[in-house]
Amino acid sequence: MPDVVSRRELGRGERVLHGLFRLRLPLPWPGVPHCNAWAVKHGDGFVLFDTGMHQPDSISHLERALEMCNMRIEQARLVVCTHAHTDHCGQAASIVERAGCEVWIHPNHAHLDRMIEDPDAVLAKRLEIARQSGVPEAPLRREAEQRIARGSGIAGPLEPHRDLVAGVTIATDLGEWVAYETPGHAPSHVCLFQPERRLLISGDHLLGRISLYFDYGYSPDPVGEFMSSLDVVERLGARLCLPGHGRTFTDVHAHIRGNRTLVAERLVRVREALEGRELTAFEIVPHVYGDTLSPQNAHWLLSKILCYLAHLQTVGGVRRVPGAPARASSREGEGEPERWTA
Ligand SMILES: [Zn+2]
Ligand SMILES: [Zn+2]
Repeated sequence: MPDVVSRRELGRGERVLHGLFRLRLPLPWPGVPHCNAWAVKHGDGFVLFDTGMHQPDSISHLERALEMCNMRIEQARLVVCTHAHTDHCGQAASIVERAGCEVWIHPNHAHLDRMIEDPDAVLAKRLEIARQSGVPEAPLRREAEQRIARGSGIAGPLEPHRDLVAGVTIATDLGEWVAYETPGHAPSHVCLFQPERRLLISGDHLLGRISLYFDYGYSPDPVGEFMSSLDVVERLGARLCLPGHGRTFTDVHAHIRGNRTLVAERLVRVREALEGRELTAFEIVPHVYGDTLSPQNAHWLLSKILCYLAHLQTVGGVRRVPGAPARASSREGEGEPERWTA
């Protein structure tokens, strides 16, 4: 009952350092109860890194969190989004309208634009991927339709004023923050680093509790990109990490190592599952995640499995089993599910 949970949760703000505040905003997702936005003082206002998701009452949670830190939305001088997932940029349009400020985000946000422009097409694509991966369609369709009925999570179309690419700097009272492109979790992902204080706003690239997710279908090898992005962040030598979910943490290198280890473990499990067998992505899920698949997490788990398969295919560990050619008369969505082998 995620919606009930979100009503009980309230937006909260707290000071992390002088001039830097954590805004903890509720989410309607099972297992992910809230996300963080970060407000950093700048002159008589603040720069807002990430925004929380748009929902019917979400702006009041942001207002409440800011109020706890003696700030108002109208004082936002700039909105910077770490990536184009709804929990990080969903309220950007509302904030920009109220504060009259700019929003900066990485240009590779096509994965979100599709959701705004044509949610039905996104649903159809998800179902097509699921079907190709061997998932029984009915429960998945129900879940996807319910999700779309709950709204896109975005207040309005993203109209960025500036492309947040590598090297772009953002001025604040705590000094300049530098953008580093860190694709993998999402093609639009960037981390922001403040070099003098060694602070890292890490979005969903590094999280307090190590957990992985990769957007499937927008780049050839999201897992490979994610691993390269870990190298990028490791070289920065951050001392305090401000993640997109959960608490701040200081053992940044341990988190990076933990992410590498977890990816390596997942890849081994996927490859082992395919040793001497031909399986669909759906059939691989229990080998990697045990008995956890449900309509609520199917899209999430499948995206990850498909990304692991794409990576193993790139480095030469697995291959697609050539299927029977689709009959000329068959409609889209009727072919055999795709199978993989080691
Ligand atoms: Zn994300
Ligand atoms: Zn997130």
